[in-house]
Amino acid sequence: MTHGVPADRIAMASVGDGGKGGHSNSDGGDAGAKENVTDLFLRLNLTGEEETILDFSDDKGETELPQVEWAVVGKVLSPSIVNVSTIHAAMKPTWGNPHGLKFRVIGAKENNMFMVEFGSKKEMERIMAGTPWMVDMHAVILQPYDERLSVSEIVFNWMEIWARILNVPLGWMIQQRGSRAMSLIGDVVKMDVDGDGKSSGAFLCARMAIDIEKPLRRGVLLRLSRSEEPRWFVVQYEWLPFYCFSCGVLGHSEIECSDPAPRNEIGKLPYDV
Ligand SMILES: [Zn+2]
Repeated sequence: MTHGVPADRIAMASVGDGGKGGHSNSDGGDAGAKENVTDLFLRLNLTGEEETILDFSDDKGETELPQVEWAVVGKVLSPSIVNVSTIHAAMKPTWGNPHGLKFRVIGAKENNMFMVEFGSKKEMERIMAGTPWMVDMHAVILQPYDERLSVSEIVFNWMEIWARILNVPLGWMIQQRGSRAMSLIGDVVKMDVDGDGKSSGAFLCARMAIDIEKPLRRGVLLRLSRSEEPRWFVVQYEWLPFYCFSCGVLGHSEIECSDPAPRNEIGKLPYDV
């Protein structure tokens, strides 16, 4: 995990500000960084002032930096701007008004990205384990906060969700085979099985990390024995946020779809299931 305040905390800084002093600890970095800097020198032909390096490897004297202890970054998958106040207002009651809750916008407004802090590790983990969260049915994607990343480097491309495969034969309602079937949908985070590795109930169920840039899987094809034809087993999701009936991808509607699909003989779109 990436929480707490690591020693190499990077503060907001501007380098090469016209040489007005202040940036004195500028005598180079480590070997790996040096290579990149050399490339940069060659490519951009930096001025002497631009070559000044502000080095944050030594944190002495920066003890008053605001602490970010238990934080996650998030994004609302919506084609229109969702204000952080709207996200806050929706999540506060849904999350049970957690202690120390603090939201702030990160990046450009139209990215719908935010950072949220919690009062404790326990609260943060509870919220992370409860996904998918939604604002007006739009998915709220959460990821661990990593202070080394800039906003443009944060990638929101997966989401954890509970998924089920319906009508699976009893012989597949076990950890090993079941997770093989589930892995057709995404990465298995946790199978819903008992202490003996067996699944009970009407369906196979697992917490999955799914790729949100791909169409949702509507089902899986399983060949249950060598002599049989593959069979189609329907997949269901618990608390599925808003997605496109045309292309099956989360975050926009079929009205806004850039690749609208033809309707079938009864007028239904492919993902209208
Ligand atoms: Zn679409």
